[in-house]
Amino acid sequence: MYVFSGKEEFKQAFSERLETKLGKNMETATEDDAYRALGSLLQDKINKNWMQTNQEYKKNKQKQVYYFSMEFLIGRLIGNNLLNLQVLQTVKEGLQDLGLSLSILEERENDAGLGNGGLGRLAACFLDSLATLGLAGHGYGLRYKYGMFHQQLLDGQQMELPDDWLAQEYVWEVRRPEETIEVRFGGHVYPIEDSLGALSFDHSDYEQLKAVPYDVPVVGYNNETVNTLRLWSAEPSVDDTLVKASLEDHYGNFLDHRRSLTSITEYLYPDDSNEEGKELRLKQEYFLVSSGVQSAVRSFEGLELPMSTFSNQVALHINDTHPALVIPELMRVLMDEKGIGWDEAWDLTQRSVSYTNHTTLSEALESWPVDLVRRLLPRIFMIIVEINERFCQSLWKIYPGDFDRIATLAIVADGQVKMAHLAIVGSHSVNGVAQLHTDILKRREMKNFYRTFPNRFNNKTNGITHRRWLMYSNQRLSKTITEAIGEEWIKKPDCLQKLLLQQDDAALLDQLYDIKQQNKEELAVWVKKTDGITIDSSSIFDVHIKRLHGYKRQLLNAMHIMYLYNQIKLNRSFTIKPRTFFFAAKAAPSYHYAKKVIKLIDRIAAVVNNDSDVNDQLKVVFLPNYSVSTAERIIPATNVSEQISLASKEASGTGNMKLMMNGAVTLGTMDGANVEIHELVGDANIYTFGLSAEEVHQFDHNGSYSSRGIYESDHRIRFLLDQLILFSPFSKGDNVFEEIYHALLTHNDEFFVLKDFASYVAAQQKINRDYPFKRQWSKKSLINIAHSGTFSSDRTIQQYADDIWKIKPATI
Ligand SMILES: *Cc1c(COP(=O)(O)O)cnc(C)c1O
Repeated sequence: MYVFSGKEEFKQAFSERLETKLGKNMETATEDDAYRALGSLLQDKINKNWMQTNQEYKKNKQKQVYYFSMEFLIGRLIGNNLLNLQVLQTVKEGLQDLGLSLSILEERENDAGLGNGGLGRLAACFLDSLATLGLAGHGYGLRYKYGMFHQQLLDGQQMELPDDWLAQEYVWEVRRPEETIEVRFGGHVYPIEDSLGALSFDHSDYEQLKAVPYDVPVVGYNNETVNTLRLWSAEPSVDDTLVKASLEDHYGNFLDHRRSLTSITEYLYPDDSNEEGKELRLKQEYFLVSSGVQSAVRSFEGLELPMSTFSNQVALHINDTHPALVIPELMRVLMDEKGIGWDEAWDLTQRSVSYTNHTTLSEALESWPVDLVRRLLPRIFMIIVEINERFCQSLWKIYPGDFDRIATLAIVADGQVKMAHLAIVGSHSVNGVAQLHTDILKRREMKNFYRTFPNRFNNKTNGITHRRWLMYSNQRLSKTITEAIGEEWIKKPDCLQKLLLQQDDAALLDQLYDIKQQNKEELAVWVKKTDGITIDSSSIFDVHIKRLHGYKRQLLNAMHIMYLYNQIKLNRSFTIKPRTFFFAAKAAPSYHYAKKVIKLIDRIAAVVNNDSDVNDQLKVVFLPNYSVSTAERIIPATNVSEQISLASKEASGTGNMKLMMNGAVTLGTMDGANVEIHELVGDANIYTFGLSAEEVHQFDHNGSYSSRGIYESDHRIRFLLDQLILFSPFSKGDNVFEEIYHALLTHNDEFFVLKDFASYVAAQQKINRDYPFKRQWSKKSLINIAHSGTFSSDRTIQQYADDIWKIKPATI
């Protein structure tokens, strides 16, 4: 896409924009003004291609993919857009001429934190790859007024502050009121039979509200494609005079009522991998689904094709089960609004919908009480019941008399609607997100579904966009890679493998080491500035960044640091290669245990960082408010990537991929995509430890694990656990860590922290021995970078396009 011929043209356009949009010049403009002028200038350039992309799609009757997700963790857009528009360098230099720093302006943009973690970030990476591959794929999400909370630590206690990210104008969004959709909740549904015996349904006494789309452009890299992320916002409907009447004309009640309706898009639920079952959350899910499905059908109708071709033109993908109501909603629209019969509507629905499963954790499996669904969504509930009845009847033919099996497969059972069952039954494709995860789905968690629909299940190992996570966030490394192997890797990330030919090139290895060193120094400066902690930039940067969760085992890492501290304190001859342990993690506000782990890490940091016996060898940094922007700072500076989840619990992970791509070496369990990383780089270039998924399964199955047995036999562990509850530098004699102690001993250590401790320590010792051999370490780093192309989301999206959505690039 043509943007600027060079920096002079940019400077001219930028100064003009400051004047025309904000009435400012270079003397009077604030940093905010400059950011907004730059954003608005880019948005103008993007607009033309955006419009053209939409016109081309329509003219060519291109099949459209709508990616439904409750979360899009997109982070900042300005740097990414500059990169994809190929003007990052031009603009950086142009601004410099004008006495401005691009990196300072970038910080004026609030992160769009419309997601919790991996699932939402995946959706954002997918949009980038769809646009770059020229594929007609768009995101449907919610425009939460408040995104993921801001985390602050007060004496180690996590505080949640509201993320008022829309307080300043969001330069990338365009409100499109003309595309508004009406969404209905509640009321009563009555069947009406006409004189010929045909059924229709009368829906009355419902509450209606408007879903107004705010579109954000998704710019492809170095092409002409601009796709759309459509975020829906709830607004009061003009047509609620009936409601007013029913509230007896009391104006205050009426306004309260309107406010409660539009609270649907007020905030993002801050729970990762945990389902709370709150009514407002179900409303959010249906609001997304109903506006998205109606909008997709409306666009399809613009093509003026027969309804029978719907599934040739439209693919509806659901990111986890949160948008699974797409299935009954599409049935409702096709039958009640378009007059199609059940069988044809069902066929079109199944052919259109595909589903990604993200977890096998039981606490994350969504189910909704029947009474709630019936009250909130009466027509949708009727359709779900009918889907369930027909499904159970078909099962009866396959498994005659096998009540038990049919009961485990039913969509509605035990007074609950099971969303995963609905998603599997109503779609043509169910995919897991890494090979191990898909195998577990097939063999265990969804075994009976797999037997019933063997062809429906498939794997699509997750990926990340190498544009944001390498080209943009690690510009030094990108430049060096291009100098070494040319720029083919940018369009074909698999070509990073060419680096393998130079794995013994001493000059390149030294250069990689220097780049990592520079990135570490930059991070050290930032940590000093923001948190006041002085760190040794020549120490090993050991990084554990992800949501705080029991299964991710930040506790294992923390206990190892306590162990190192004890060793150094007790044994004068014990030394380690200097190490800085970084943590960044948000805990769900109601997740008590996770907050205690944060508190423990904070306490360990206070002890270690202030003890001169150890702090030349050990430092611990907890970076608050983990977000896309902080990830972009930390990842390029990482030596060791902690991916230590309990095997079988992390479906894939994507942090592992970002870190590997930036030359970090993984310290990990054989879980999620770590298994595939290990397969690619080989034993010499990854540190693995711990139980296998199969061993974990066996323990869970036969109940033979006893954490107390380990406590009693391993004196190191006994010492550590006692330090949590007896007087120690960490416990300070109070009982704050009793909960952790009891989780490990009284409740038999659900996540096998004690079981894996010894092998984790051994793996860490190996790192301690290996790191000083600079060239050899750099070689490991190079081999990891070289194999990371497999984990570009371009590869992932190409597989979705070929196998699930059956779409090809448009020519724009
Ligand atoms: C990549 C990413 C995640 C996912 O990290 P995992 O280690 O895969 O859990 C979470 N949050 C942010 C901000 C990310 O960028």
